[in-house]
Amino acid sequence: MTDNRQTQLLDAREAELLAGVPDGLFIAGQWRAGERGTLDVTDPATGQVVKTIADASAADGRAALDAACDAFPAWAATPARERGELLRRAFDLLQERKEEFALLMTIEMGKPLAEARGEVAYGGEFLRWFGEEAARIQGRYGPNPEGTGRMIVSQHPVGPCFLITPWNFPLAMATRKIGPALAAGCTVVVKPAALTPLTTLYFAKLLEDAGLPKGVVNVVTTSSSGAVSEPIIRDPRLRKLSFTGSTGVGQRLLEQAAQGVLRTSMELGGNAPFVVFDDADLDKAVDGAIAAKFRNIGQACTAANRLIVHRAVAEEFARRVTERVQGFGIGRGTEDGVTIGPLINQSAVDKAAALVDDAVERGASVRTGGRPVEGPGTFYEPTVLTDVQPGSDILREEIFGPVLAIVPFDTEDDAVRLANDTEYGLVSYVYTENLARGQRMIERLETGMMGLNVGVVSNAAAPFGGWKMSGLGREGGAEGIHEYLQTKYTLTPNPF
Ligand code: NAP
Repeated sequence: MTDNRQTQLLDAREAELLAGVPDGLFIAGQWRAGERGTLDVTDPATGQVVKTIADASAADGRAALDAACDAFPAWAATPARERGELLRRAFDLLQERKEEFALLMTIEMGKPLAEARGEVAYGGEFLRWFGEEAARIQGRYGPNPEGTGRMIVSQHPVGPCFLITPWNFPLAMATRKIGPALAAGCTVVVKPAALTPLTTLYFAKLLEDAGLPKGVVNVVTTSSSGAVSEPIIRDPRLRKLSFTGSTGVGQRLLEQAAQGVLRTSMELGGNAPFVVFDDADLDKAVDGAIAAKFRNIGQACTAANRLIVHRAVAEEFARRVTERVQGFGIGRGTEDGVTIGPLINQSAVDKAAALVDDAVERGASVRTGGRPVEGPGTFYEPTVLTDVQPGSDILREEIFGPVLAIVPFDTEDDAVRLANDTEYGLVSYVYTENLARGQRMIERLETGMMGLNVGVVSNAAAPFGGWKMSGLGREGGAEGIHEYLQTKYTLTPNPF
């Protein structure tokens, strides 16, 4: 492992970019101060404050909802083609500004620049995809079976929406919600995580430049997410809550949403199994595991959490992944050769350390890594653990860090049992060259998504979402826009 860290202040390009990021709340097309004053945004690679922005109060949140409600009738009545064209202009502008968005995410969140560029590409696709989907919102018309009338089924935007996004994919988690909402004719209030609000503010500016009508998208940044969010969720004018984040917070928000019987989409936690059979192509499996585990420094809901590897190939698999991990560079994501940036904050480092320590105490072996890295910044060594024992916390909890934990298995039934032994069901990965076995695994795994000989599944054209406690609803694909539409059935008498 090479340590590429340098304690560096922002360079001129970064300072210029940050100066161009708005520092206010975006409400009814105006940038304004927050009633709670300001909050600081920090670069996790250096610990340095990079920008100070507005801190919203509950009253600011209400003002944002007022704006979304005022703007709703006109936006819902805007032709679908025009709504789609706004999203297309936003997509085009994002391509022009892709380097700026990538750098901004690396600064505020820490992911390596190459991965940040990948997120811009992925996040942009939701604008293009849903820009195209807007024109395809359709209903149906036809006789009822009795022949006594005509049935009309039509689709309508659900109304003003509240979108809450996490820190780990600051752009893509926002576009994955804003894209379908706007395409469907909904107006929104967006609340990004306080740790990474800059990307959303910069994206709101991009939407403004693309010709966004006032109040269609409103952004509130706050250090007090509960106090700002609960009154919005309990406001009877709100009709939809879309949340991406941890299962615990999602459960709390679902309780609040129950009062108004809100439509909800919940993209929650994961505990992805990554199963490698003895008939797998080991080169492909190692590549897939590295991508599925270490992308975003392990901080992805889709991250491979449990490497379930057939005993016959477990040692060879461990040897090869360890060799790869030992070649990683740690450092600020802007530096050349860096594959492992910082974790988002100190509590993420502490959590990774506690999970590794618990696994080791219960009998796991550390093949490489296994320790926090001394500051500045909040880094944890990329780590490989083998022989992780049943009952270890690391098999039950989301690691959200660069720790690859290998558990051996003997039979296909064992693999299925281990893979399904979790309250989550977001994504599963399976590596086998046996087609029938692959098909059996598709049918037997309790999972909303599956990568069969593939380590990254996300795609704007696919329905992203989980089973069990990983959530409700789907984002992306043909399904994604229906999260923001409601159905009306009308019966009319026979016209003849
Ligand atoms: P989190 O703590 O649940 O926060 C997510 C969002 O909720 C942030 O905007 C946060 O704002 C806000 N929030 C926290 N407490 C709140 C409250 N009481 N009321 C209203 N909003 C509240 O999750 P995280 O640590 O940011 O993100 C990591 C989690 O997200 C992981 O569990 C990961 O698996 C999950 N995730 C899921 C998907 C998916 O598609 N399934 C995708 C990405 C991430 P503040 O941080 O400002 O408080």
